[in-house]
Amino acid sequence: MGKKKAPQSGFKQRQFKKLAALYQKMEEHYDAQARQIGLRCAGCTDNCCTSYFQHHTYVEWLYLWEGIRSCPDEQQARFLERAREYVEQSREALARNERPRLMCPLNEDGWCAVYRHRLMICRLHGVPNRLRYPNGRVQHFPGCWRCQELTAEAPLTPVLDRTPLYQELVAIEKGLLGGKIATLPRVDMTLAEMLVHGPPQV
Ligand code: SF4
Ligand code: SF4
Repeated sequence: MGKKKAPQSGFKQRQFKKLAALYQKMEEHYDAQARQIGLRCAGCTDNCCTSYFQHHTYVEWLYLWEGIRSCPDEQQARFLERAREYVEQSREALARNERPRLMCPLNEDGWCAVYRHRLMICRLHGVPNRLRYPNGRVQHFPGCWRCQELTAEAPLTPVLDRTPLYQELVAIEKGLLGGKIATLPRVDMTLAEMLVHGPPQV
C-alpha cells in the first residue's frame, strides 16, 4: 500500500521552500543553456529517465517523498512495486558488470509523475555541466546523448557550472540536519532505493 501523507513540521516546510526556489533557479539555468545549444526534449527518441544515478542529500530524498505522498494510494503502490523490481534488476546488472539501464519507477507513460519534486540530477543532466569539489577536483558531465550530438562540432559549447547550485543545496541540507549532519551516514542511493527505503528519519 502507499504511504499516507505525514504532516511535516514548519521547520521542514521552510527547508522545502528553499529547495523549491533552488530547483526553480536550476531550471532557469538549464533552460538558458539548452536554448543556446538548441536542445529540446520534444521529439526526443530516447528517455533519459533510464540513466543510472546516485543521489546524495537527505533534503532531496525527503522532498521527493513529499511529492510521492501527494499522489493517490494506488499510484504510490505502483511506484513502490516498480522500485523493488528496479533495485533487484539493477543489482543483477551490476553483478554482471553492466551499468543498469532501467526505467525510473516514477516515470509513467514517458512522463515524470513527480515533476515538481524531481531531483537535482534529473534537472541538470541534459546539458554539459561541471562540478568543482572543495579539494579542487573538477568533474565534467557531457549532457545527454542528444546534446552530445548537437555539440559534437561545437568546441566552444557553454558549460553550466553547477558548483554554486550544489553549494546552495549543501547549505539547505545543513539547515535541515543541523548538528546531526556529522553523525548521519552519507546518502549514496538511487532514486529506487530511496523509494524502497521509505522517507529518511531526520
Ligand atoms: S534531456 Fe536529452 S535525452 Fe533526455 S529527453 Fe531531453 S533531449 Fe532526450
Ligand atoms: S524522478 Fe522523474 S525526471 Fe527523474 S528519473 Fe525519475 S521520472 Fe525521470
